[in-house]
Amino acid sequence: MATKIPEAQNRMFKNIFICKKCKRKQRADPLKILKGKVKCRKCKKSAFRTIKKK
Ligand SMILES: [Zn+2]
Repeated sequence: MATKIPEAQNRMFKNIFICKKCKRKQRADPLKILKGKVKCRKCKKSAFRTIKKK
């Protein structure tokens, strides 16, 4: 594929977050992340960042 589809990529990464503590990837609803309802399976923290951010 020569052409990139930004929208598709956005969708791919949209619901994936990374635990700030142990850097484990986790897919979740962004709204749940914002409300702190999602906890990391490994360290049980609810501090996540998006996958794009450095
Ligand atoms: Zn974690």
